[in-house]
Amino acid sequence: MVSSPPHSNSHSFPPRVLLIALDGLGRSPVTYSAHTPFLSSLLSNGISFPSARAVFPTDSAPNWGSVLHGVLPEKHGLSNGDVERGKEFDENSMYPSLFKILVRRDEKKINMRKKNEKYGNTIVLDNCERGNKGKLTRNASKFITKPFICADNMSLNSRHPVCDEPIKYASFVAWAPLNTGIIERSIPGVFYSPKSESLCTRIRLHLKHHTLKSPSYDTYVLQRVLSFLSSPDSKDIELLLVHFVDVDEQGHNYGFGSEKYLKQLRILDGHVRALFDELEKERWLEKTTVVITTDHGGTGRSHGENSENEMGSFVVVCGRGVQSENLRSREDEKMSTEEVRNMDCAAIVLTALGVDVPDWFDARVPKGIFE
Ligand SMILES: [Zn+2]
Repeated sequence: MVSSPPHSNSHSFPPRVLLIALDGLGRSPVTYSAHTPFLSSLLSNGISFPSARAVFPTDSAPNWGSVLHGVLPEKHGLSNGDVERGKEFDENSMYPSLFKILVRRDEKKINMRKKNEKYGNTIVLDNCERGNKGKLTRNASKFITKPFICADNMSLNSRHPVCDEPIKYASFVAWAPLNTGIIERSIPGVFYSPKSESLCTRIRLHLKHHTLKSPSYDTYVLQRVLSFLSSPDSKDIELLLVHFVDVDEQGHNYGFGSEKYLKQLRILDGHVRALFDELEKERWLEKTTVVITTDHGGTGRSHGENSENEMGSFVVVCGRGVQSENLRSREDEKMSTEEVRNMDCAAIVLTALGVDVPDWFDARVPKGIFE
């Protein structure tokens, strides 16, 4: 009776997740679906939770913190003020980010390998030099904001030996504090934000944002991530985070739901479509689970409180390993949407990667997502 699953070929590849983080959308793909044809089509065709909720307070750092650490804000303790001032996330926190959870798993494997070395098996770390940037193409070297440090006799809890390891983690974000304050600084990988651009570009972006009130951070993020995806450096990526922020900026500048906000929403929809087109071109889609969510909505020109507009969020899961919509049972549907929080993406990401959801997580996987 059972035919082969739709993406059976993809299972010969290691699992991979793309987490798309859309700042300040609330439930826009539902409320303003005319402005988000692509996102709305994902919402109606993939596994989606259009009435998911944010966590409180409805600010970016607490919510992206929960999405990336899988626990409520009172546990991870992240606030906009701290991360924007440059405070780094505690490397020894009881509530590590998804990246850190994966790196710790890698370190365990490497320790096993080192043990094997004692018994005469091959070692991968013997030709390393501290500071080696690894086998990056010039293209990727540009994006590096955290060095690839080859850690020969390293303290394994703060460095990851990567000189002969492929790049597995990457994060392209429009809001730099995600990379510098919410994700631990020790994570090896490719980390980009527009702050990595030349001084000239940064001045132009600052001017557009503050003076002309026409932010264009997202355009840079999109260009950079597209070029990364088409480069060989992305081939072994296990977790890629892509974050866009200009819709939120226009919400603050002109009002959430204002004409300018909706215009930016349409532009963002095009960015997400362009990202999917590239995934398709590079044959990533069939090998990748894509998870999309937003941190919060907004009301007037702000957010942070618990109104319906601010607490509104949504979650979409599609691609590899995801159960096709018509196989989901009514039972799954029933318990889905209202109870789902954007934070649950953390548990969804780990499950898609075949990693157990840690017992300290508040995030959980809504029923009926995976095959
Ligand atoms: Zn935000």
